Amino acid sequence: MISKVALQGAFLEHIHILQRIPQVSRAVPVRNIEQLNSIDALIIPGGESTAIALVAERSGLIEPLREFVRSKPTWGTCAGMILLANKANKTKKGGQSLIGGLDITVNRNEFGSQINSFESAIQIQHITTSSSDLFPAVFIRAPIISSINSPDVAVLARLQCNTVETDVSAIVAVKQGHLLATAFHPELTNDDRLHRFFVKVVLDFLNEKKKEL
Ligand code: GLN
Repeated sequence: MISKVALQGAFLEHIHILQRIPQVSRAVPVRNIEQLNSIDALIIPGGESTAIALVAERSGLIEPLREFVRSKPTWGTCAGMILLANKANKTKKGGQSLIGGLDITVNRNEFGSQINSFESAIQIQHITTSSSDLFPAVFIRAPIISSINSPDVAVLARLQCNTVETDVSAIVAVKQGHLLATAFHPELTNDDRLHRFFVKVVLDFLNEKKKEL
C-alpha cells in the first residue's frame, strides 16, 4: 500500500500512475494522522514546499511525518524533495520548516526565473539502461541537490546543464536506504518506471521487515 501527502501540490497525478501498478493495493491522499498511520509508504509531491510545510504544521502533521520518514519508505518529488532534505538553501525569507531525513543539502529554485520549466532526457540508475531509453524529466521551478552529506546517499541521476549556476552536472535524483528523492516531476509524464521502482523499494522494505519478525 502506498500513499501520498495531499496537503498541497500535484498529488492526483501520482495517484493515477500508482493505480496502474498491480502491486499497489491502495493509493490514497493523506490529510491527517489517521490516514498517515494507515499506510506503508508515502510520496510527498511537487508544489510549493513552503505551502506544504505550512499546511502540514497547521494540521499537526510535521512531527508525525518526521517519524514516518524515519521508519517507512518515502519519495519526495520536487517540493517533496526539498521537504525531505536535512538542509535547504535559498529558502523563503525567515526560513521554512523541513521534514528532513535525507542527508542532502538542496538549493531551491536553482534554475532562476528565466527557465521556470523545461524537460530533459536523463539517465537514471536502476531505471535507464542505454542512451535510447532515457527518462523524460520535467523540471518546474526545480531545486537541485547541492551537496551529499553522507556516504549512505547514492546519486541516481545528474543533469548536464550549463544554466545551473553552481555546477554543470547537477545532482537531481538520490536514494538513501528507504528514502528516494527526485528534483523533477515523473508524475507529469507517461513514463511510470520511477513509480514502479519506488513500489519495488517498498516491497523489498516490507519483505525485510517480515524477515525481522
Ligand atoms: N520551487 C518550489 C519550492 O520551492 C518547488 C517547485 C515544484 O515542486 N515544482 O517548493
